[in-house]
Amino acid sequence: MVSIWPINTKRIAGEVEVGGCSVTAIAQNYGTPIFVLDEGDFKARISNWQSEFKAAFNENAGEIFYAAKSFISVEIAKIINHSGIGLDVCTGGELAVARAANFPGERIEMHGNNKSEKEIEAAIDYRVGVIVLDSLQEIERVARIAHGKNRVQKVVIRLNPGVEAHTHEYIATAHEDVKFGFSIATGGAWDALLSVVKHESLQLIGVHCHIGSQIFATDAYQASAIRLLEFLARYKAEFGTELENLNVGGGIGIAYTEEDTPMSAKAFLATINNVIVKESARIGISVPKISIEPGRALVGPSMITLYTVGTTKEVQLEDGATRLYVSVDGGMSDNIRTSLYGAVYTAEIANRVSTAQLRNCRIVGKHCETGDIVISEIELPSDISPGDLLAVPATGAYGRSMASNYNHVPRPGVISVAAGAARTIIRSETEIDLLALDVDEAPKKLEKLPNRESGARK
Ligand code: PLP
Repeated sequence: MVSIWPINTKRIAGEVEVGGCSVTAIAQNYGTPIFVLDEGDFKARISNWQSEFKAAFNENAGEIFYAAKSFISVEIAKIINHSGIGLDVCTGGELAVARAANFPGERIEMHGNNKSEKEIEAAIDYRVGVIVLDSLQEIERVARIAHGKNRVQKVVIRLNPGVEAHTHEYIATAHEDVKFGFSIATGGAWDALLSVVKHESLQLIGVHCHIGSQIFATDAYQASAIRLLEFLARYKAEFGTELENLNVGGGIGIAYTEEDTPMSAKAFLATINNVIVKESARIGISVPKISIEPGRALVGPSMITLYTVGTTKEVQLEDGATRLYVSVDGGMSDNIRTSLYGAVYTAEIANRVSTAQLRNCRIVGKHCETGDIVISEIELPSDISPGDLLAVPATGAYGRSMASNYNHVPRPGVISVAAGAARTIIRSETEIDLLALDVDEAPKKLEKLPNRESGARK
């Protein structure tokens, strides 16, 4: 069974400790809610993926790009840089974090299905290693901007292999009816390729796909890899040369509860390698350099969220049973995944051990929405009370990165803990931060400005 807690988590005298720091001390020093990163766990996870990646792919190993969208901060970008893996960014904002961390441009891959001119310029100016192209207009934009800067930009095209990943529909990205990539089946992908190769300012180095997120089986990855390889074979047949790179994306699932059975890095990578090697030989192309873009699998399990229980309320259900609503001091503003995708989490009282009987609870937040649920169904000790600390594991990915200020709630900070010491890597917001954007401006007449992208923020 895969542990759902960061590796440096234990109970000492009944109280949870992460990275050698007790949850009570964390709550007293930083307040709650707070995200707690087990830095040792995060680094160990990266290093495990790196070694399994090299072992599985050998000379076919391309790059591991950490998907910044799962969680990024300047300190995280520095850890990623230090580990030697690459970084996938998909907005100017994520690129700005990479720049602030002095992340080397050549190890950055720039994604996004609607990059603005400004974002493309920033990426080219920062000399990002590769831009992933996602639309015909974007091909022209990147080509024009690179040409204007007298540069040849390495690019890959994002292909839609038309496979169904077995995951929630909002995080499946490679069936036909989605906004991402160029469809291989309907010919869009080949048209995109033809428009890329006619530009001297673009150097096409390969193809990319990302089939979705939180995936537990390799069948959809295998199917999509085969379709991409067939596309590479068509390129070879028509151009007489070969494209060197194939990026199979991210999306590898993690355990949020003990019922989840994620693939190990070793098993996942070996399966991908086997299918690519076998299929390349069958269709007569060289085995491409294989890259991956995991986010959740690297950072998800390394973090917990610590909440304080504020109120409890027993609610009568239609069938006569009761449910204990346990309200914590965060909710959908720091974890939207439950309301967005029906994600399932678990939790434990972290400041003490209780021997009280378990009872059915629902963990809810403090927001003005019925759907503001952190955990829909969970059995917790019936004596759970205001002041208890509740720890939710596996919140490293798409938690803080998707956080909002709904109800003008300040977003929680992130602390990193290791060897008994804690440090802030993102400070918690304050009400002053919340008010910092409010402006009392005198009305002014607006005039049209020459040569500006209409409506695009600069
Ligand atoms: N690559 C791309 C293009 C993505 O869109 C995503 C997530 O949405 C990822 C990689 C990372 O996915 P995950 O965090 O599930 O590994």
